[in-house]
Amino acid sequence: MTVYRTAFYKFKYIHDVRRAAAPAGRDGTGVDDDALQAWVERISLECFGLPFRHRATFNRRLRTTGGRYFLKTHNIEINPKQLEQFGPEETEKIIKHELCHYHLHLANRGYRHRDRDFIELLAKVGGTRYCRRLPGVQPGGPRPVRYMLKCAACGLEYLRRRRMDPRRYACGRCGGKLKFMTLDSTNES
Ligand SMILES: [Zn+2]
Ligand SMILES: [Zn+2]
Repeated sequence: MTVYRTAFYKFKYIHDVRRAAAPAGRDGTGVDDDALQAWVERISLECFGLPFRHRATFNRRLRTTGGRYFLKTHNIEINPKQLEQFGPEETEKIIKHELCHYHLHLANRGYRHRDRDFIELLAKVGGTRYCRRLPGVQPGGPRPVRYMLKCAACGLEYLRRRRMDPRRYACGRCGGKLKFMTLDSTNES
């Protein structure tokens, strides 16, 4: 009996979270801060297997950047214009990007864009590549990630700061051929 009851509550909880995150139409209208919070919490559980215990809010003052993670408060801000222009799918990739910063930072792992932990986790959960320099991180650090090598066989992506000749390398996962690409810098998030 107890087993059934636990299972029921578990299901109900997941169900409620999904419903709370659902008010967005396909155009992303109707998402307020509470819905965003539920949305981030759901993605955190589903894609990272860990809870998001801080606050996610919209910030309309963000310009080209899609989202921000704050090292001091652990809160996340998302640009609502991103949602209006590109819809929930693109916004979800930004949320995943910010959650990569969030979970790696809290786990004392490499949470910066240049860190291997970050690059790998981002590829794993399918987040978007860019966001503005993190508040609290010193400028004048390494050059930004502007290039990518993509495996033509398995699709794995390798982010790079410098131009490089793809013919001299092979995919570390499957040994496939790599394709060199320049990332679109206007697509920051
Ligand atoms: Zn970022
Ligand atoms: Zn590959």
